[in-house]
Amino acid sequence: MEDRKKGQRSCAACRKKQDKSELVRIVRSPEGGIRLDISGRAPGRGVYLCPREACLNMALKKGSLSRSLHSALSAEEQEAIRKEFCGLETRDT
Ligand SMILES: [Zn+2]
Repeated sequence: MEDRKKGQRSCAACRKKQDKSELVRIVRSPEGGIRLDISGRAPGRGVYLCPREACLNMALKKGSLSRSLHSALSAEEQEAIRKEFCGLETRDT
């Protein structure tokens, strides 16, 4: 029930609950393909992760990303997501 609290989502990797705006959304776009959804409004099935490479790696390793997105991630897609993630970390406000 508490999951329904407005704006709160839990990270697919570490399960930590945070405000939606603190998390990074990854979506499978309707055209196919996986990408980071910085705006949080892209259409398609999405999964939330902390903006930390550790959580991304954990999610990839455990398969929770592909499970949540109902689609396997190719090595290229994983690599692309990882690159975008690193970009997020280094980008200062
Ligand atoms: Zn996390």
